[in-house]
Amino acid sequence: MLKSQQEYIRLVEELIEHDKRYYDQHKPIISDYEYDRLYTAVKEFEQSHPDLILPDSPTQRISEALTEGFKQGIHVSPMLSLANTYSQEEVGAFIERVEKLLGGKNILFSAELKIDGTAISVRYEKGVLVRALTRGNGRVGDDVTANIKTIHTLPLKLPSGFPPLLEVRGEVFMDTRTFKELNEKREEEGLEPWANPRNAAAGSLKLLDPKEVSKRKLQIFFYGIAEPEHFVLSQYEVHHCLQKLHLPVCAEEDFAICNNLKEILAFAGKIQKKRSTLPFEIDGIVIKVNDILSHKALGMTGKSPRFATAYKFVPEQAHTKVESIVVQVGRTGVLTPVAELTPVLLAGSTISRATLHNQDEIHRKDIRIGDWVTIEKGGDVIPKVVKVDFEKRGKDSRLWTMPTHCPACGHKVIHIPKEVAIRCINLQCPAQRLRSIIFFAGKQAMDIEHMGEKVVEQLFHKGLVKRLSDIYRLKKNDLEKLEGFKEKSIQKLLKSIDASKYCSLDRFIMALGIKHIGKETAAVLADECGSISSFLNLTKEELLRYEGIGDTVADAILEYLKDPKHIEEIELLLSLGVHPSQKEVRKIEGHYFKGKTFVLTGVLEHYSREEAVSLIKERGGKVTNSVSKNTDYVLAGNNPGSKYDKAQKLSIKILSEKEFICLL
Ligand code: NAD
Repeated sequence: MLKSQQEYIRLVEELIEHDKRYYDQHKPIISDYEYDRLYTAVKEFEQSHPDLILPDSPTQRISEALTEGFKQGIHVSPMLSLANTYSQEEVGAFIERVEKLLGGKNILFSAELKIDGTAISVRYEKGVLVRALTRGNGRVGDDVTANIKTIHTLPLKLPSGFPPLLEVRGEVFMDTRTFKELNEKREEEGLEPWANPRNAAAGSLKLLDPKEVSKRKLQIFFYGIAEPEHFVLSQYEVHHCLQKLHLPVCAEEDFAICNNLKEILAFAGKIQKKRSTLPFEIDGIVIKVNDILSHKALGMTGKSPRFATAYKFVPEQAHTKVESIVVQVGRTGVLTPVAELTPVLLAGSTISRATLHNQDEIHRKDIRIGDWVTIEKGGDVIPKVVKVDFEKRGKDSRLWTMPTHCPACGHKVIHIPKEVAIRCINLQCPAQRLRSIIFFAGKQAMDIEHMGEKVVEQLFHKGLVKRLSDIYRLKKNDLEKLEGFKEKSIQKLLKSIDASKYCSLDRFIMALGIKHIGKETAAVLADECGSISSFLNLTKEELLRYEGIGDTVADAILEYLKDPKHIEEIELLLSLGVHPSQKEVRKIEGHYFKGKTFVLTGVLEHYSREEAVSLIKERGGKVTNSVSKNTDYVLAGNNPGSKYDKAQKLSIKILSEKEFICLL
């Protein structure tokens, strides 16, 4: 409870700072739960001192700033926030308040998932998607139409039965798997990882290049209609009307109509249980009055409507001590500090380690060895250090700094400008070698079953696998030396090593662990090269012609291929029976596209970029990255880039998507 006006002002200022980090920079430093606790303290003070309320208090306005580089648009009706609660009692109080204001009992409520993403309003005119706005300050939002069109499940045209004008509201989010992959890639590239999928989705939606946005694989769920009273009578109908219009909504079993508190709590309990199995993050449920006409009657308070409330899940937290901070060296040499904690039980498992990401993060949160910290597990599985308990900080707490030399090989580490990461650049560093082998055998690369991290560690430390090719030399008597390996498990592992030899070319290229080469680029390279020998002989000119490959990626590939040790290793792998082969591409003979060269620019309405590329290739066409006099067609979607202008200058035929479809 805040005791004085000064305390109130200080906390308002602190919250404004957190809002900036959260909404504008997408880099929060406290958890949502911590934020909501501070916010409640401010709200309670304002309730008992209404005359002291500051106009810029976060309770009075939506703090999301508008972003430079985007056009802005006005919402047909304001996009608001939601009041939130963390307790059953407060949900009960919400119901009582609604009953009192509407003057009756037996009110029906809808309950649904509270998706943890970022709000969006999408407008359809005559059934065609014409505009998408972020929530912004609630009245005006950023126009992110080109970016939103990269979401595959979002219909650009509605099926018949659509109203002439419709604005639908929903949440853009990133599923947990994409988030994990994105962060792993960012850490490898020395970039700061996103704090959570919500911030990753919000940040991605505000990228200026739709092509980059499409790589983030954003998703969307809708839950509302602006001015719904023109279309439907209940929240139940909203859900089903959206569904009928082929707009993605949450699953039927994740939406309920409840008669009372007991039913709402039962629904919340059910959702909380299945939370960890959902492929995306939710931070609670949203409870709404089902009857739409009551929404207007109930009005709003501060920045939230009175007809709804969020019932958020309390994150599981634990307090423990930082015993030490150790450094892990990753596959690309990035040094990651990890807190070794006094083991503590959290959400059913014993936690003894938590990643601290990088030195900046440690400084920002001021984490020291010997500190007592709060760790938290939200929807995701990885525990985070949320904050330090400064009151418990002892005199013996010790500041931590990144070592100047790699803890694995002793080589001097470096800080590459513009990266947050510190790297060991010794390619012979044993930690990097171990991580490379783990990556090579991993699911996204060669996918060698039964050869997980622990098994590779044993093989490495026992000297049985020191380099990638050693995997294919393993014999039964080698595997007998591994802990827990018996006849059956040995046979299983040998079998999956053998099976991995017949891999696809893209997996093989990916498994080599070349800097900047992820799944998509590996697929482009495999497609273009067709064989490992062409891959080994690539030139910079060729690389720059390939879809999505620019200078940085091309240089990274050539740098890798220049190293004789890498070539020797690839040759060894091939001589030991690894046989990467190109996936069969469906071929359509005698098509008009045969021998034609295409360049793609802008965002297409009916196809993703990859789909368009494979449609062209199936028909014998080629896709290159840049426009030249050898280009036959430039296929231009919405918001085309400079390639469009260049095509005009060179008088190259520009195809609209419609023309492209006709030619297909
Ligand atoms: P909110 O995210 O708690 O709730 C409102 C939003 O919920 C809506 O805009 C909507 O997009 C979304 N939503 C998801 N599913 C929905 C559904 N089924 N029906 C209706 N809406 C649904 O509120 P907010 O105003 O966006 O943000 C405030 C919250 O953000 C705070 O409570 C806090 O948790 C978090 N925050 C955290 C920090 C930090 O530093 N950690 C800083 C600022 C805000």
